[in-house]
Amino acid sequence: MNNLRFVMVGHVDHGKSTLIGRLLYDTESLPPDKMEEIRTASQEQGRDVEFAYVMDHLAEERARNITIDTAQTFFRTPRREYVIIDAPGHKEFLKNMITGASQAEAAVLIVDAAEGVREQTQRHAFMIDMLGLEQLIVVVNKMDQVGYEQKRFEQVKSDLNSFLGKVNLKPTYVIPISAKNGENVSNRSDNMPWYTGVTFLEGLDSFVNLPSSLEKPLRFPVQLVHEIAGEKVLMGRVEAGRLRRGGEIVFLPSGKKAKVKNILEFGTKGKEEASAGESAGIVLDQALPVGRGEVGADPGQEPPSADRFAASVFWMSPAPFRMGEKILLRIATEEVPAEIEAIAERMDSSTLEILERDASVLNDTEAGEVTIRTARPVVVESFYKTKELGRFVLVRRNDVVAGGIIAHSVRRS
Ligand code: GDP
Repeated sequence: MNNLRFVMVGHVDHGKSTLIGRLLYDTESLPPDKMEEIRTASQEQGRDVEFAYVMDHLAEERARNITIDTAQTFFRTPRREYVIIDAPGHKEFLKNMITGASQAEAAVLIVDAAEGVREQTQRHAFMIDMLGLEQLIVVVNKMDQVGYEQKRFEQVKSDLNSFLGKVNLKPTYVIPISAKNGENVSNRSDNMPWYTGVTFLEGLDSFVNLPSSLEKPLRFPVQLVHEIAGEKVLMGRVEAGRLRRGGEIVFLPSGKKAKVKNILEFGTKGKEEASAGESAGIVLDQALPVGRGEVGADPGQEPPSADRFAASVFWMSPAPFRMGEKILLRIATEEVPAEIEAIAERMDSSTLEILERDASVLNDTEAGEVTIRTARPVVVESFYKTKELGRFVLVRRNDVVAGGIIAHSVRRS
């Protein structure tokens, strides 16, 4: 059974930790002593359960590697297992998503019913859209604090929809909940009889796993070239599709072609196939001048390469970008000197307001529709076709200062 990975984002204090704590409790995914602690507290009259506190506590334990040893949180429903990807802020979220540290298939955006849509809510929505996460649940939390009023829920929903409409993002569900009291999270609420839609967990359970990269054309970015027993071995990770022994392979951007003579496997004579997600070392039937950064593909299914391409970037350094600055582009296994040649639009990522056209700076948290020029051709495949190849980071003096994706206009028609 496949698990489903999702990111949870929202303005600070809107109830992220509380909802995570509630989910773990309702699905009995917390350590037994924590379950007991919460049970006792909720049985005592007038004592509030602070799920956020439980989460802080778990985070501490996690940091000390005692009970949970990864930066991800798991829970399970009868349908499947879920992985919640921690995203303490928008920068971490974007960095993780762009560098591929966390491949989310769905997103949850949390909004406080009383406070409504805030700046960070909008910035997160912008990123969810930019990263093409189409399975989205919006939860309007703390309904208990607004008297479970349908009118207030509809107001927040309509504010949010008018923003999401600008980026063409449609939430799959918008659900009124109280994370604290556990209403409409896994159990329905008697306090909101006017809401007849799915609970949060029913919503998640209805989501699907995204098509596997196995079914896509081969993409094998070369990481290293080694010489083993007099033979040249190209090492890397198969990002999409399959490598086959005996199959033809073409490398981009050079366009050099060869046959895969063998796929090495330690302690054996080699293997027939290596597929998406696997690391592989291959030997070709002829020596090609192919090195790190080139991408192996199936002939006839080559990705495009260019030394100039359009991209959406998100600037995330306190020190602004100024036109003419030297930067490095890191994309798949390639790293190449680059410059931003034009900034067609400079945008506030929270309001989506276009601040300037044909701009010459990008400030912290601003998004830009840009043209990037590289010192030599690189493989530039659309993020929407192959996520692993279509995202990149920009590096300035060893510091990751921006994340981006190839050829995506924020205002999709
Ligand atoms: P985070 O910053 O998004 O992780 O927010 P927290 O989960 O830490 O919640 C911030 C505050 O809101 C805490 O004091 C929570 O107890 C409170 N809170 C969260 N969810 C609810 C809710 O559904 N109802 C009420 N009344 N308070 C809530």
